[in-house]
Amino acid sequence: MIVIKFGGTSVGSLENFRKSGAIIESYVKKKKKFCVVVSAMHQVTNKLITVANKASIQDASYLEDVKSLKEGHLKIIQNLTKGKWLEEGITTIEKHFQELESLLNGVFLVKELSPRSSDLIQSFGERLSSNIMTLYMRYKKISCIYLDTRSVIKTDGTFGNAKVNFRKTELLTKKIFSQYSDKIVICSGYIASTENDETTTLGRGGSDYTASIIAYSLRAKSIEIWTDVDGVMTADPRKVKDAYTLPRLTYIEAMEMSHFGAKVIYPPTIQPAFSKNIPIWIKNTFNPDAKGTLIDKKGDSRKLPVKGIPCIEDITILNVVGSGMIGVPGIASRLFRSLADRNINVILITQSSSEHSITFAVTPKDAKLSQEIIHKEFAQEISHKTIEDVYREENLSILAIIGENMKNTPGVTGRLFQTLGRNGINVIAIAQGSSEYNISLVINKHHLTKAINSLHEAFFLSHIKTINIFLVGIGLIGTSLLQQIQEQYEHLIVRNKLKIRVIGITNSKKMIFDIDGIELKNWKDTIENNSEEYGMDTYITRMKEYNLTNPVFVDCTSSLELVHHYEDILSSNISIITPNKLANSSDYTLYENLHKISLKKGVKFLYETNVGAGLPIIRTLQDLIYSGDEIIKIEGILSGTLSYIFNNFKKGTAFSDIVREAQEKGLTEPDPREDLKGMDVVRKILILSREVGYKLEIQDVILKPILPEECFNTPNIEAFYQELKKHDRIMENKLLLARDKRKKLRFIAKLEKKKITVSLQNVNIKHPFYNLFGSDNIVSFTTKRYSQRPLVVKGPGAGAEVTSAGVFAEIISLSSSFIQDNYTYEDEK
Ligand code: ADP
Ligand code: ASP
Ligand code: MG
Repeated sequence: MIVIKFGGTSVGSLENFRKSGAIIESYVKKKKKFCVVVSAMHQVTNKLITVANKASIQDASYLEDVKSLKEGHLKIIQNLTKGKWLEEGITTIEKHFQELESLLNGVFLVKELSPRSSDLIQSFGERLSSNIMTLYMRYKKISCIYLDTRSVIKTDGTFGNAKVNFRKTELLTKKIFSQYSDKIVICSGYIASTENDETTTLGRGGSDYTASIIAYSLRAKSIEIWTDVDGVMTADPRKVKDAYTLPRLTYIEAMEMSHFGAKVIYPPTIQPAFSKNIPIWIKNTFNPDAKGTLIDKKGDSRKLPVKGIPCIEDITILNVVGSGMIGVPGIASRLFRSLADRNINVILITQSSSEHSITFAVTPKDAKLSQEIIHKEFAQEISHKTIEDVYREENLSILAIIGENMKNTPGVTGRLFQTLGRNGINVIAIAQGSSEYNISLVINKHHLTKAINSLHEAFFLSHIKTINIFLVGIGLIGTSLLQQIQEQYEHLIVRNKLKIRVIGITNSKKMIFDIDGIELKNWKDTIENNSEEYGMDTYITRMKEYNLTNPVFVDCTSSLELVHHYEDILSSNISIITPNKLANSSDYTLYENLHKISLKKGVKFLYETNVGAGLPIIRTLQDLIYSGDEIIKIEGILSGTLSYIFNNFKKGTAFSDIVREAQEKGLTEPDPREDLKGMDVVRKILILSREVGYKLEIQDVILKPILPEECFNTPNIEAFYQELKKHDRIMENKLLLARDKRKKLRFIAKLEKKKITVSLQNVNIKHPFYNLFGSDNIVSFTTKRYSQRPLVVKGPGAGAEVTSAGVFAEIISLSSSFIQDNYTYEDEK
């Protein structure tokens, strides 16, 4: 005998009834011996609870709701069957609704809804759906019979969550089934009855339990729970997009998963099956060919330590605190007994080893009552101040990592906390069963989605990591970056196992977001047509609220205003990658603070492109320092524009013409005076000096400008060129003077002995800066190790494409800080 159970969605609509019916028919064809358990149609139990509550407060609108419930059921039978089956169906439904209506009328009149009446009212859901299924199958010429399970499943009188008397239930079930051995028995799920034949229910989601109780009683070969997902998944698929179906679990793992919120199976279901070693399959009505999940004694013997990360979204914790509890035996047992006596389910317990406090979690609806129970139970202790306080903490969630193999795998807890820490998630309470089948954590509800997703990534998806980008600035660099991400997207997934998603894009006018990743093919259209109005505060707030794993703020602007948000962004555990120099070259305290915060929060602040675009200048310098070298001198040509100008400034050409040529080639700032002032170079060498460890400010830099003040005081660019022409002669003289000494003109930034100078110099052929082309940058590091010949980094140091490539490389480099995994399903497939 196989017991097959169809859940609410599997009978939630006409189409779904047909799908479930087709599965039954196929089993008949295959000559399988089976019985069926049916849940109430999707949402019907909830609706019955609502109408009952409405009636109890004399809200007459319940009548309308009942009418539509009835119509819903009638519509199903009318479309599923014809002829005598339809007639019988209509009569059955009418009869049930008459009974239901008169019950509700009673509740309406007495203005009271007892748990007893509530259970009776709820029973209609399953009674109706399983009757419909029976008639539908009969119409399909399948010999079957409806069994109202209230006649076989016997329970105590705990309405709403009745406890099963297995001995009696087994006897009755066996008896009935032996009478119907030639027929397929179609049973109502969820409902049962007391000794006095009063209707009870088995707790919400209890139809799974019904299947297991029947399987237990009949010593069935297996149980099949047909639902709307392919099986038990690594996490709740509504919260974790990448959750995947687990092929096999042990009973204990399944029990832990369901106890901690994996709704796919109702927790009490496991025990009866476990005790008789009956395997449970979870199957998908809407994808019957999928293998499903098998739950049995053996489980999955592979090494994967963690099997799932279930969660309970809403919990409240209660803390019982008091120094008088230390060493006093029996407090905990009294506490939990008093709660159990009132049927309060305690989800998690932790006690500090000092016994100074006991913390436990309950569902929010039980919280107030729990507090009252404790106050009553410990009235004396409270008045004597043995117990000082009993307080509640709300808006919390629990998540658990589950797996029988955790106990054999070191490092699981380390990874757990490392992952949460890196994502800025604070753990409020922890409980680890001594069995080590689960570690459960209480966290703020606000962090739940991020926590499960990041843990899911850490424990299951080491083969693919996701980085979530929030981009600001879509000028040349930003646009080029988006293009590179788009072009490399697939490649990175395959080669680097890295998924780079752009979640937000903004310029200073508009912004767009997509939590699933913006379609980069169309980002220009989207920002043009479907954007929101820009606001930096809104953008940052949204970025924080999304609370995604591995978030990165990429600033491709040169805005000073944005830089003032950096501390806040890093403090919110969001990394920053930027070519914007202003953060690192403004006040030293800001530079220092940003580094401190990023270190403290375990997030990255990366800015290689502040100096020399994509060239590895800052990294090289950091590597030298980290490896213990000592920096003696740094010299550099750090402006691509000025490099171009002096590389092309030859005898016979006017200096002003070369500047204009550079501007025409797009190599200068829109206003070339900005480049010629040399401030950009000043900022770059200042950043390098700070990397070396010097606390220098911009005013400490000695800048000898290339041109006199009057060139820069011009009212506009044209006037500047006019003024510049007047200086062509002086510039040519400088050039010729250098040439005469077989030297070249170079605009060099130098850091030596904690002093920075930026000036135009003559260099001879032996100098590493003598041979330079185009708009190349060059930096030479003279260090203790590189004292004879300096270490030189040289190459294209300007331009949108090389800069964005540098930013892109830093984004990819983030993935190296991710935790490496030892075991994944992927590895073993
Ligand atoms: P049924 O009505 O068939 O009993 P339920 O709604 O009770 O179905 O349970 C199935 C739902 O459980 C799925 O649709 C899914 O959203 C949810 N769920 C939560 N956690 C998990 C998990 N770890 N694996 C699979 N499903 C889960
Ligand atoms: N119909 C009941 C409920 O919604 C039982 C079930 O679906 O398993 O809780
Ligand atoms: Mg269910």
